[in-house]
Amino acid sequence: MSVTVRVVVLGPPGAGKGTQAMFLKERFGACHISTGDMLRKAVNDQSPLGIKAMQYMEKGKLVSDNLILELMGEHLSQENCKYGFVLDGFPRTRPQALGLEKLLRNLGLQLDRVVFLNIPRDAIIRRLAGRRTCEKCGTLYHLVFDPSSKEGVCDRCHGVLYQRSDDTEDTIAARYDVYKTQTAPFMIDYYRKGGLLQEIDGMGNPDEVKGRVFQALGLDVA
Ligand code: ADP
Ligand code: ADP
Ligand code: ZN
Repeated sequence: MSVTVRVVVLGPPGAGKGTQAMFLKERFGACHISTGDMLRKAVNDQSPLGIKAMQYMEKGKLVSDNLILELMGEHLSQENCKYGFVLDGFPRTRPQALGLEKLLRNLGLQLDRVVFLNIPRDAIIRRLAGRRTCEKCGTLYHLVFDPSSKEGVCDRCHGVLYQRSDDTEDTIAARYDVYKTQTAPFMIDYYRKGGLLQEIDGMGNPDEVKGRVFQALGLDVA
């Protein structure tokens, strides 16, 4: 029997959403849709969307719901997403959550679970300050918690590792504030009431957290 996962990964910046989404993608071949990654690509390409989004991202503010829903509509309707998807960093607001429901309804799909990774504020700063990302394949590293074997070089593809321009102390504080005021209050309640929320302790090493995530989804870790 084939297993599909259709999940949203929710949590503060630095909670480990991207890291856990990659584990799920590797294991299930589900499509991994990260709105942050899509937006960074658009910024890099200097597309009209990227130019609009950049000013918000630089300040740690949310990009408009309409732009995000447009992006999601394009990606979710792709053929490979029929067999499972992991949404990372989306939805982040009420209109986005309602918009997602509408998109899924139109595709005849339903969410299985919302994985809520929770970590305290001081851990967020430590994680984001040391985050490094491969510019070629997107693999995530951490200078202290999950370093590459050769500094600045990706173990998987030998790509160059870079530091995100919004992972500075001021922007991290702004992003955390946005999460606490604009994302968490609505999203957690909404998915809890809908019976989809699985709260997971995001502390511990990435493999320990992976064990908890897979268990919460009723999946084998092996
Ligand atoms: P993090 O790793 O901190 O959770 P992301 O990579 O998900 O950050 O997002 C980086 C930035 O991109 C956000 O600060 C925000 O400006 C923008 N962004 C990403 N996803 C969304 C979204 N769903 N809605 C609005 N803005 C978003
Ligand atoms: P998010 O997508 O929620 O912003 P990431 O997955 O990008 O978070 O993780 C943020 C940083 O923390 C990255 O440098 C990543 O390597 C590191 N990290 C992820 N999970 C853990 C963990 N369980 N313990 C320590 N560091 C982690
Ligand atoms: Zn790489």
